[in-house]
Amino acid sequence: MKKPLKEVSRGKTKQVYSTEDPTQVILEFSDRITAGDGKKRDELPNKGVLNCGISTKLLQLLEQTDIPTHYIETIGKDKMLVRKLEMLPLEVVLRNIATGSLIKRLQMIKEKTVLKRPIVEFFLKNDEYHDPFLSEEYIALLEIATPEEIEEMIRLAKKANDVLLPFFKKIGIDLVDFKLEFGGDTAGILRIGDEINPDSMRLWDTATGRILDKDRYRKDLGQVIEHYIEVYERVTGKKFEG
Ligand code: 5GP
Repeated sequence: MKKPLKEVSRGKTKQVYSTEDPTQVILEFSDRITAGDGKKRDELPNKGVLNCGISTKLLQLLEQTDIPTHYIETIGKDKMLVRKLEMLPLEVVLRNIATGSLIKRLQMIKEKTVLKRPIVEFFLKNDEYHDPFLSEEYIALLEIATPEEIEEMIRLAKKANDVLLPFFKKIGIDLVDFKLEFGGDTAGILRIGDEINPDSMRLWDTATGRILDKDRYRKDLGQVIEHYIEVYERVTGKKFEG
């Protein structure tokens, strides 16, 4: 059994631990939740376990479709063994339905418009500068990624959507948009890293339009954990036992 050796970094919602294998690290999902570049913060009991379970299922689905991710194994209710990646400071967003920052930037697009085809956008992962939108030219200018890496991230984000969109449709959920982060493994292969769960996706109940994701927290809609439990149970097909 892999054991956490030493905490190597602490993000807003996760801790990263080294292991005896220098190519692998352990992610520990915490109950912390933040919004507004980390200005709004809370602890929601069980969130870590729920997000670890949801991320496990979604990362396994991607791996089964030959989409390279960092996922190796889930080794505890809130812990995942993953490949160590050199992360790119980017948030890669795929959108199927217009909402959020897209309709703020392009006000001629009406909220809830189903996009004719999915689009991929890049943002700088930097709270201090409020995660600004980046064009491909900006990414080159800032020397964050090569044109080949940009092309590969767009390809993998669209491929991930081709897997996740029908998966969520089957369980009665509209996958509105989601954010991915990428990094290179120790062999230089670009992989999807980080987590995929309601903290980083917008999920709307198809039948009612009910918001099931972190927007419940961002917009003070209440019952955040109750909705994460619902997503956990629909995604994993298992009752949440806590
Ligand atoms: P938007 O750009 O509309 O605010 O967000 C698009 C999608 O990316 C949403 O699903 C949102 O949850 C996710 N996203 C954007 N920025 C962040 C971030 O800083 N952290 C997390 N966890 N997700 C984000």
